[in-house]
Amino acid sequence: SAEREADRRERVFAAAQERYYENPPQIERGWQQFLVATDGRCHLDMVNNVSAIGHSHPRLSRAIFDQMQLLNTNSRFLYRALADLSERLVALAPDPSLDTVLLVNSGSEAVDLALRLAQMHTGRRTVVALREAYHGWTMASDAVTTSAYDNPFALANRPDWVTVVDAPNSYRGRHRGAQAGAEYLVDFTQQLNALQETDAAQRGELPDDAQGVAAFICEPILGNAGGVVLPVGYLAGVYADIRARGGLCIADEVQVGYGRLGEHFWGVQQQGVVPDIISVAKAMGNGYPLGAVITRREIAESLAREGNFFSSAGGSPVGSVAGLAVLDVMRDEGLQENARLVGGHLVQRLTELAAKHPLIGAVHGLGLYLGVELVRDRVTLEPAAAETAAICERMRELGVVVQPTSERQNVLKVKPPLCLTIESADFFIDMLDEVLTRGW
Ligand code: PMP
Repeated sequence: SAEREADRRERVFAAAQERYYENPPQIERGWQQFLVATDGRCHLDMVNNVSAIGHSHPRLSRAIFDQMQLLNTNSRFLYRALADLSERLVALAPDPSLDTVLLVNSGSEAVDLALRLAQMHTGRRTVVALREAYHGWTMASDAVTTSAYDNPFALANRPDWVTVVDAPNSYRGRHRGAQAGAEYLVDFTQQLNALQETDAAQRGELPDDAQGVAAFICEPILGNAGGVVLPVGYLAGVYADIRARGGLCIADEVQVGYGRLGEHFWGVQQQGVVPDIISVAKAMGNGYPLGAVITRREIAESLAREGNFFSSAGGSPVGSVAGLAVLDVMRDEGLQENARLVGGHLVQRLTELAAKHPLIGAVHGLGLYLGVELVRDRVTLEPAAAETAAICERMRELGVVVQPTSERQNVLKVKPPLCLTIESADFFIDMLDEVLTRGW
């Protein structure tokens, strides 16, 4: 039974392996936007942002199986699929300057590599990150993961090369309600100057030297803050500031990128900026471990000058073929366009729900990258964290998988497979309406 399975996990993983729900369903198989449990019950998956083309897509399974039968090895050999996938990624990149690809196995690895490239290329160490961010669990990606919920250890043990600046949360930040990025930009520059001067004084350096940075990293839409869209012009201003300090701009597109926004393939396109380095993963392999860094040739070449890059499985024939199959399915099934249509429908219906239920403080995000922020009071914005957890449990009983997110755990994370249908979106809304109306 599911309960026994949960006990088993507890024994072998201690409490180290996080899991959804107090009493989680035992899942046997996935199909499109659904998860089928051992008891035969079907759950609508509104949260799984990895299986972008849907669970267990037959074209992906077939491609992986066929390639596995034929050949799997590492990228020191020559085989077509590696260059095929890399060329496809370059063609999809938000700007022709981003013409070089390095393949890895996960989002954390992609972020680590992006940070390393920036430090090598600039010869500097300082990386500026935003508060409330999640960028991964490896030592470097973890150092820029600044969410108090996810990472109190990293916050307490932050290495001296990480500088953290407040996130421009237009719902609950200092400039609440501001649509334009101007106020936040002034904030960004002032905070960074002050932090760098303090650091320089501590290290006994001249402030001028210390103004330099290696990189700035953020998600182009603040995923971990609940899907909060950045104020208009914010990234353009921040990127200009960072470049004036000699730094590179890293866009962590692991969660937001790859068609999920509908209107745009990449998150940076929503802000109209071109980064120097992109990290991508999750949807890329649809569950097959696959990630990439996309950057400029001269930046990637610093690896050859200053070090070495090799990943035993990154860019393997099987991984490459998986990546190609995912892109083929996305194109053939029009999934980015579907994310735009169904995401727009969801936002409309969620906005209607917000007019009816005061618990819904805001609907954040774009496309199928949404956050429904629950508050006890629309003026004080007191986070409704206990309510969010209880609503998720009740939704599961009704057959919908949705989860809390954000530092305050008061945002319903809505990031379903991109093949979500209007019918499924409506089912989710109807169930949420019922729970909010009848209680949880
Ligand atoms: N960056 C972002 C924005 C993410 O959301 C995640 C995963 N939640 C990561 C990096 C790390 O990716 P992975 O879990 O594949 O290591």
